Amino acid sequence: MEQQEAWGHWRPHFRSGESSARIRAWFRRVECTACKAEEGRACRTPAGYPTHHHKVRRDAAGLPPYQEWHEQGLLDDLVPGTTPVLAQAGLAARQGLNVDEPLGDAVALVRRSLADRYGRVLLDTETLDRLDHDVRALLLARGPEGSAEIVTILAAQIASLIMGAAPEAPDAAYNQMVTDQLAAARARQRLERLLDGLEIDQGDGASETAPEE
Ligand SMILES: [Zn+2]
Repeated sequence: MEQQEAWGHWRPHFRSGESSARIRAWFRRVECTACKAEEGRACRTPAGYPTHHHKVRRDAAGLPPYQEWHEQGLLDDLVPGTTPVLAQAGLAARQGLNVDEPLGDAVALVRRSLADRYGRVLLDTETLDRLDHDVRALLLARGPEGSAEIVTILAAQIASLIMGAAPEAPDAAYNQMVTDQLAAARARQRLERLLDGLEIDQGDGASETAPEE
């Protein structure tokens, strides 16, 4: 609880430029069926605080035409000096480990993900969105082929980690890991829905909020 409170007010302000406004407006062209935010308005948490666009809204709006915007130079302020944050970290990894670009990028990505792990453990959507945003900038910079190499390296690294951890049955171990993660995510979604319902009903159905596990 204390940890959550400590993170609760943490809000990175990385989306302030013109292209951020462009991306925001893109998603807000549709209303949100999750939190009922109207067209043009921000998504809200159950407690009423502004939050990042819910997945259903992002899905409904569709992916912004990043490539087109990028080519028109409309994303330049999103990618300071045309060197995304993760590409800078990738360069540092390349130089530190004396490796090529895709491996350096993959190392930077995993390091960044590890650095953000508390945000992810606390299910902080800002953390995920921030990572998502930086990864997008990196992949835009690398193009389809460079991006494919990064994905291949990451998958190979995960496979080798799992083979090391469960040499007898790595496939089963991986399936178990994915199943566990899905179960945890679904349990969390159920709990969030219950909490949302509780918020609206003002205590009606409180007995339903008992944790399932
Ligand atoms: Zn919403």
